[in-house]
Amino acid sequence: MRNYDQNIMDMDKYLEEKKDEMISFLQEFIRIKSITYEEKEAVEFLAGKMKEYGYDEVRIDKVGNVLGRIGNGPITVMYDAHIDTVELGDISKWEHHPLSADLADGYIWGRGTVDDKGPLAAIVWAGKLLKDLNLQDKITMWVSGSLSEEDVEGSCVDEMMKVNPDIKPDYLVVAEASEMQVMKGNKGRAMIKITVPGVAAHASVGHTGDNALIKALPIIAGIDKLTDLGDDPFLGKGTIEVTNVVCNTPSNNTIPGEVTIFCDRRISCGESKEDLIKEIQPFLDLAPGSTASIDMEHFNTWNGYAVAAEDFFPSWLMDEDSKVITAGVEAFEMCFKQKCNVGVWPFSTNATTLCGKHGIPTVGFGPSIEELCHSDKEKISVEEYVDAAKFYALLGLTISNKQ
Ligand SMILES: [Zn+2]
Repeated sequence: MRNYDQNIMDMDKYLEEKKDEMISFLQEFIRIKSITYEEKEAVEFLAGKMKEYGYDEVRIDKVGNVLGRIGNGPITVMYDAHIDTVELGDISKWEHHPLSADLADGYIWGRGTVDDKGPLAAIVWAGKLLKDLNLQDKITMWVSGSLSEEDVEGSCVDEMMKVNPDIKPDYLVVAEASEMQVMKGNKGRAMIKITVPGVAAHASVGHTGDNALIKALPIIAGIDKLTDLGDDPFLGKGTIEVTNVVCNTPSNNTIPGEVTIFCDRRISCGESKEDLIKEIQPFLDLAPGSTASIDMEHFNTWNGYAVAAEDFFPSWLMDEDSKVITAGVEAFEMCFKQKCNVGVWPFSTNATTLCGKHGIPTVGFGPSIEELCHSDKEKISVEEYVDAAKFYALLGLTISNKQ
């Protein structure tokens, strides 16, 4: 293994000097509200900061994602974190206003500090660090501030891959809260939509129709008992739950002519869309004419870019012997001088698309605790934020030196 001791000492000195600037940057970023689909101001702020920080190239792509590049080396590593946050929640419950970005007892408070603007700020600083210390010769580092992850994870980075064909990441680093643990996978998810046909009729002469709701009942009961789903030793067992039933009926005195059943499916073992439909086919056969498909999401990003995306986000799981995970483990052990245990995320991230669908070898890591995400206690430890920037920079070196 290459000797990184001097690099680490230089990084420590650099981060010590820049700590206050890092804090101010994150505070400013948190004070700009960036709820999903309303990220414009935060996007423009981030792009401006990347330019100010000496990024070699900064773009806001057609979708509205921010992309900043450091270096022009042979190995391309994309670091992704999302700009959008969930709503602020009940402000009266917060100890510090969610847009205050107050610094108290070593923590910065506010919506997005953990999920995901804190990790995003840390990767922005990792890029700046590599450039300022002139360590970028082997790497092309893209920092992606992506959109709308909270509602439709994976969709905006999927569009990003389409509209930036010149960016071809060899590796991906997903920055989301992981309690400073190296992550190698997460479950995927899909929304399955089942349509059950019937014949509408006035309820007073119901026998002249064919009640789609009654026909849907054995399908619902069958799916409820479907527990024999793929089980992965790391990601756990897949699940399926019926979450909603919508009757297509003009009034409550009409028997419905069509019913739509929605099922949330958590995916463990890399099942394809076809696999998910095939496993419920025996239940569909209970009501002839019933069909199932993956639901579609239709939305516009903040700049009006229209996305139509299938609600299917595959699972991803890297081998612990893979280059990207061993690079993560090496960087971790050098950075924190302790043994690295590799874990998996219990929640979904953009890696479902970038690794699960596009096949980009991926490692995950992030400061802070996932339980604070979306809560009124969201805050990030300044120490972890700064340490994470160091880890991400060191990770860029270990990945690009592994070739
Ligand atoms: Zn997140």
